[in-house]
Amino acid sequence: MTNQWALGVMTGMSEGPLRALEAVRELGIPTVQLQYPPQPDTPAGIAKIEAARAATGIEITLIFCGFKGESYADIPTVKATVGLVPLGTRAERVAMIHQISLFAEQLSVTRIAAHIGFIPEDEGDPLHAQMSQILQEICDDLATRGQFFVLETGQETARGLKSFIEAVSRPNLRINFDPANMILYGKDHPLEALDCLHPWIESVHCKDGLWPTYADQLGVEVPFGEGAVDAAAWLEKLIALGYRGPLTIEREIAGEAQTRDIVAAKNLIEAVLQKSAAWETS
Ligand code: MG
Repeated sequence: MTNQWALGVMTGMSEGPLRALEAVRELGIPTVQLQYPPQPDTPAGIAKIEAARAATGIEITLIFCGFKGESYADIPTVKATVGLVPLGTRAERVAMIHQISLFAEQLSVTRIAAHIGFIPEDEGDPLHAQMSQILQEICDDLATRGQFFVLETGQETARGLKSFIEAVSRPNLRINFDPANMILYGKDHPLEALDCLHPWIESVHCKDGLWPTYADQLGVEVPFGEGAVDAAAWLEKLIALGYRGPLTIEREIAGEAQTRDIVAAKNLIEAVLQKSAAWETS
């Protein structure tokens, strides 16, 4: 069982499971969210991940679904390619989520997350009902394995997401609250969105960004604490609203700059946690 507010990082395993988890441990971070497929989804691939986890003591808190053919180049491309909204790839991606659920079960991971695509804000739009029915089927499938399906935030307003979750009406449908995405897609203010969405938050991404400046373009992701999220205030409010899950850093660049930004994010989060602990004991 994860400690409350356990630090985490979003990672793949391109350098192999052991090296990937050792690198996380070297940063003093005890948990990860894994991008699927972190390794070949075979008994041998799963055994390698299990061995790396045992050797490092790093906990896997969530598996994040990625689908072939997705592109985040700009907002029209996201709408056309991401998640379960595009009709041409919908059935194969639903089948893929089932496959990922079986993979996660073998690793005893109970959270499976995805961007499902742009859900219409208008509940009368036929796509709203279609997506709601698909999510019910996914949630019911995952429930047979004791798993949660976790929606990545950002491609809709907080109010739109809340009404969609209520329409799906499944207790194992939850949220991975990514405050940067709300800004990058120009959809909502993450501090205010917490008021609306906090009952469903299962996990978070500590990520930051700047508002988009051109129509149809995404904003720019920046290091946590340097963007429009108001990172410390967002973390304090998240904690004050009762969140006790992992705090997973996401930085979507590579190499030494990524490591440097992850360490800076870790320092920021730890400073906020110390302040919160001081409040609780005073
Ligand atoms: Mg994210």
